[in-house]
Amino acid sequence: MTSPRSSAADITARAAALDAADPLRGLRERFLTPDEVVAYLDGNSLGRPLRETPRRVSDFVRDAWGGRLIRGWDEQWMDAPTRVGDRLAEVALGAAAGQTFIGDSTSVLLYKLIRAAIAARPGRREIVVDRDNFPTDRFLVEGIAAECGLDIRWVPSAADAGVRPQDLAPLLGPDTAVVVLSHVAYRSGFLADAAAITAQVHDAGGLMLWDLCHSVGVVSTELDRWSVDLAVGCTYKYLNGGPGSPAFGYVRADLQEELRQPLQGWMGAADPFDMAESYRPAPGIRRFLTGTPSILAMQPMLGMIELIAQAGIPAVRAKSVTLTEFALDLVDEQLVPSGVRLASPRDADRRGSHVTVDHPAFRAVTQRLWDRGVIPDFRPPDGLRIGLSPLSTSFAEVAAGIGAVATALRELG
Ligand SMILES: *Cc1c(COP(=O)(O)O)cnc(C)c1O
Repeated sequence: MTSPRSSAADITARAAALDAADPLRGLRERFLTPDEVVAYLDGNSLGRPLRETPRRVSDFVRDAWGGRLIRGWDEQWMDAPTRVGDRLAEVALGAAAGQTFIGDSTSVLLYKLIRAAIAARPGRREIVVDRDNFPTDRFLVEGIAAECGLDIRWVPSAADAGVRPQDLAPLLGPDTAVVVLSHVAYRSGFLADAAAITAQVHDAGGLMLWDLCHSVGVVSTELDRWSVDLAVGCTYKYLNGGPGSPAFGYVRADLQEELRQPLQGWMGAADPFDMAESYRPAPGIRRFLTGTPSILAMQPMLGMIELIAQAGIPAVRAKSVTLTEFALDLVDEQLVPSGVRLASPRDADRRGSHVTVDHPAFRAVTQRLWDRGVIPDFRPPDGLRIGLSPLSTSFAEVAAGIGAVATALRELG
């Protein structure tokens, strides 16, 4: 048996060795890292700003907005939703150009794309969604089902896992209109087999919508190769776009002309400045826009998309796996003996970039940690979520963070 003291030193040394061997370690300097924050373990809820972000935003205000004024729309802003969407698609989604746009919030995009999917599958009466999906996804499905007179088929899944093809199979059939699932589950971090599930939904004649909020920017995603129909995702999590930055939507090229979305505003119309008498959808992906795009709020994500491009998703994913493996080792060594239970997959191939652990004291623990600059988040009923954003999180932070959880548990014990 090693003494607790030497084991703490040993963990620090292991973290230092992992940081020294990390090929992406140099990129951590690109983020704002205030001294008061000991360990930021919630980049999966709100990514850190890049160091360049204040400058990028103020340059935009001064030069683009202040300098070009209304001319900015013609010169560069009208195309920003699809230009930024295409770049994101290329860097992080495995999607060809012309299928991705930056739009409203994820919630609003879910509404638009689920409604469009249902309208494209007339006569099919069921929306399939899992019980453990993020609340907004479930709430929107409930609302849409009520509005359109459809039924919901709820996929059961274990809280510490996620939806597998065999869980879904009994719920699919000739009534399946659309299936809404998260690629990485927000609570457990379970990474779904998107290729297999999409194929399964297509075999039943339904459309597949993937919510990529917790996977975009950290997990290899091949929307085109998987023949995904629809996808949405946040840009303020692993894309570091800042609080409330606009979400992205993806609609497969060959579906675009067939789909009709319900919030038909002028920005999705064929010619917004035609001031036409009635709505005619724009050709292609633009028809999924509604109102004036949030150009100002798109600025911070631009730097992060380029940083991910520089690192490359395979390297980002490799670091994510090493970070979560290290976190699991520390959970087993330091937390499990205090009665903590792992609520995330052990298999790295089925795990995204966060790890959740359960313990009845975690609500109180989280408050204590936040006061000490150690910042994970709490997810009811008793889950502590440790989010590891590969470009900004160090192994030293993981060690400090999990060590602080162990200390707080002892104090509250
Ligand atoms: C974070 C998250 C959302 C957030 O939606 P907003 O409209 O941005 O509030 C939606 N779905 C999932 C799965 C999420 O993780």
